[in-house]
Amino acid sequence: MKNRIAATIWKIKAILCVLVGHSRICTSWFGYRYCGRCGDLLGDSLASQDMGLPTAVIVEHSACAICGENKKQLTWKDKLFAPKVG
Ligand SMILES: [Zn+2]
Ligand SMILES: [Zn+2]
Repeated sequence: MKNRIAATIWKIKAILCVLVGHSRICTSWFGYRYCGRCGDLLGDSLASQDMGLPTAVIVEHSACAICGENKKQLTWKDKLFAPKVG
């Protein structure tokens, strides 16, 4: 039952990303950047193929000035079903 709910929530998140685009709130892992909402790979900064990075808010960067600035630009499209930042 719990898994079913989790799967449904994941589906809602994925559909939301299709409709309004991936959240600018994201997580990063060794240079890779993932959507904070659906978990899709958004960019690879090591291969400098991450166009979205300048406007991204990385969840782990709680003390980062760039992410702090970007946080001000977030809209409901970024925040809905995404992890809380700041
Ligand atoms: Zn997404
Ligand atoms: Zn940052």
